[in-house]
Amino acid sequence: MTDQTPVRASTGCRDTPVLKQRGQREVFCGLTGIIWLHRKMQDAFFLVVGSRTCAHLLQSAAGVMIFAEPRFGTAILEETDLAGLADAQTELDRVVGELLSRRPDIRQLFLVGSCPSEVIKLDLQLAAERLTEQHAPHVRVLNFSGSGIETTFTQGEDACLASMVPVLPKTDARQLLLVGALPDVVEEQAVSLLEQMGVGPIRVLPAPRADSDLGLGENTVFALTQPFLGDTHAALERRGARHIAAPFPFGEEGTTAWLRAVADEFGVDDATFDRVTEAPRARARKAVAQAAQTLSGKSVFFFPDSQLEIPLARFLTRECGMTAIEVGAPFIHKALVGPDLDLLEQGPVISEGQDVDLQLDRCRAARPDLTVCGLGLANPLEAEGMATKWAIELVFTPVHFYEQAGDLAGLFSRPLRRAGLLKVEAAE
Ligand code: SF4
Repeated sequence: MTDQTPVRASTGCRDTPVLKQRGQREVFCGLTGIIWLHRKMQDAFFLVVGSRTCAHLLQSAAGVMIFAEPRFGTAILEETDLAGLADAQTELDRVVGELLSRRPDIRQLFLVGSCPSEVIKLDLQLAAERLTEQHAPHVRVLNFSGSGIETTFTQGEDACLASMVPVLPKTDARQLLLVGALPDVVEEQAVSLLEQMGVGPIRVLPAPRADSDLGLGENTVFALTQPFLGDTHAALERRGARHIAAPFPFGEEGTTAWLRAVADEFGVDDATFDRVTEAPRARARKAVAQAAQTLSGKSVFFFPDSQLEIPLARFLTRECGMTAIEVGAPFIHKALVGPDLDLLEQGPVISEGQDVDLQLDRCRAARPDLTVCGLGLANPLEAEGMATKWAIELVFTPVHFYEQAGDLAGLFSRPLRRAGLLKVEAAE
């Protein structure tokens, strides 16, 4: 049966003036993406060309997950390398040569740039081209930047995927490309729902292995599963692929709208769509309703961090009954998040970029029930008695599509319940 429930009227925020501020910002760098990317690409290695700080970040963020030969590492450029960049290139060639001879399982090698000035001066694109010539056809060497000067933490994935797009072979095949690194179980759920509707063939980027038959061309249509893939979106369009714009698949409503947009592209009729989605939609609604009991009527303030802020504000306000005070995002790509902005009711301040002190002043004045922010801001705000949610958890936790909708709502309701319990204890 087609669900005739009208989508709740919204005047939408697509044309809301955006508050743009530039100043000090509090975000992780793009190296963080390596933590989840190395798990998706089973024959890839990420070689960060950086400093000891970069090595420490990766080790502390991912140390607990290393149980075999790691698939990322850091080539540390010492300060003495500043004196001779030619030496640094030779040293890089030597490190890569040693790594590849020791690890024949590596088929894709990413040279990942970072902040130190000696790394910025090193032309990693040239190095990647030279090393590809040396190690082809067995290994493809690409480069991207994870530097904290240029990237926030989810932009590392965007830069990595965008670096792969130009080297993919051409195909004229009609196909759907799902773009974004999702946990395997979540990706399987999405593919299964679409295949049950008869949509296909379906490919994914990043592909699990370099020798997959993934190609690109003018008959490729693509759907993004993450809202932070602006450069990848542009790179895919340059290859002739066409974007299926849709709200992002967070919550029951977002997932249904995302699937509907893909289904429409492939001519799926209403009866088939409803047959496939009816049961998981009902499960998602029920699970979200449970968490929404805690969230309904509460206010939320987003600091810019993951670029998930706009779709999540749409989910929390429309499906969980929250009120958004400010929705801050590091960047706003309307080609990507426009459909979510359309659904987000007018009212919140929409801000892009950050001057963290000014934004903290606004947050303290508003005293939201829940603040979504990076790790560096969460502890000070908690110390001031405000409930917070770490934005980074939203990227490390499976939160997309129907079966995870309840968990997504739960991520926001838990800190509120905890804050409530602490208040009760303090009163006793
Ligand atoms: S890339 Fe820059 S911000 Fe990131 S760990 Fe290295 S030095 Fe720090």
